[in-house]
Amino acid sequence: MTETDTPQVHESAVAASTGSLPARLDVRGMTKRFGDLVANDAVDLLVAPGQVHAVLGENGAGKSTLMKLIYGTYQLDEGEIFVDGRLVQITSPAVARGVGIGMVFQDLRLIPAFTVTENIALALDLKGLRLDRGALSREVADAAQRFGLSVDPKALVRNLSIGERQRVEILKVLMAGAQLVILDEPTSVLAPQEVDRLFDGLLELRSQGLSVVIITHKLREARAIADRVTVLRGGKVVLGNADPTEMTDSELVEAMVGRTVPALASDRARPDVVEEPALDLRNVTMRSADGAVRLKSLSLEVRRGEILGVAGVAGSGQRELYEVALGLSEFDEGTVRVCGQDIESGQSRSALAAGAVGIPEDPVVESVVPGLDVAAHL
Ligand code: ADP
Ligand code: MG
Repeated sequence: MTETDTPQVHESAVAASTGSLPARLDVRGMTKRFGDLVANDAVDLLVAPGQVHAVLGENGAGKSTLMKLIYGTYQLDEGEIFVDGRLVQITSPAVARGVGIGMVFQDLRLIPAFTVTENIALALDLKGLRLDRGALSREVADAAQRFGLSVDPKALVRNLSIGERQRVEILKVLMAGAQLVILDEPTSVLAPQEVDRLFDGLLELRSQGLSVVIITHKLREARAIADRVTVLRGGKVVLGNADPTEMTDSELVEAMVGRTVPALASDRARPDVVEEPALDLRNVTMRSADGAVRLKSLSLEVRRGEILGVAGVAGSGQRELYEVALGLSEFDEGTVRVCGQDIESGQSRSALAAGAVGIPEDPVVESVVPGLDVAAHL
């Protein structure tokens, strides 16, 4: 798009400060009211080409409202939006898409029974009535390769993981011509390793000159990926276009929540007195009825005030560890102590008396009696 496309050209003031390239997105003084509530109060947001910009803020800060205004889902009450240096009236999502703004929705809007290619076909404004699946499929594969978002064009969406579906959404937006990709809390549906994968993908887009706006309330994510951050609180920008590398975590958190927050308890005080561990397993061996070893000479100690994470693929003994510690299953060798008291093998009463309680993996199956009310369960 060139500036000669429109007679009404308002040069963005930012153009000068970023060299010859105008800002990809320059939002100025944008206000949105819902009745008496000012959801966005004179908000400014500046996103350069090839930049990942994080919009940070607590729940209700106005982040989603800001994105919906930029994407044309909501209409602004006051303010101006410049895209690539031109003033645009974004009156609908179609107008936003037309100026290269794409939105990746969190409740991924794909049709499970369709393939990746068919879903993308729905989003593209294809000319003609017949869909040339083969050709489009190749285009999807090309685009996937080019943007580093690996997906199989022929796969049925219902067989894809959430992370893969999200890649399809992003691809869809990119193939529709987006130069600015907005993602509203995209990591909330992802497992940690999928978050890394998403971030790698977004950094690839950045390296190709695309701009990304990512909404998050997680500081760590903003740090991991953003070139710039804007922090919203109560609908207002409290920190605009800041370089996150120049700010401490506590400065950013303070901007988000509006007050100083005590440091996280990584250096929390621990009792000096040597107490009995809360849980103490020594050389615990447990075999199942068929003689298979489920726990093999397992020793571990959890002190008071500690959280112990147990990792492993399903079936590695986590369940047996849980049951042995709570006296729910018998063990064959070793000792189990809870707060200094020996737990008799398979005696849940003695574990309970010593202070051990458990929340099972599947409470509905293992500890709820359907038909009894909450009071009866308590
Ligand atoms: P965030 O995404 O930062 O959690 P939102 O932009 O969703 O915040 O909401 C900002 C404020 O605007 C909240 O108080 C919310 O209740 C209010 N709000 C958002 N959308 C609407 C709406 N369509 N109608 C009325 N109030 C809304
Ligand atoms: Mg939101």
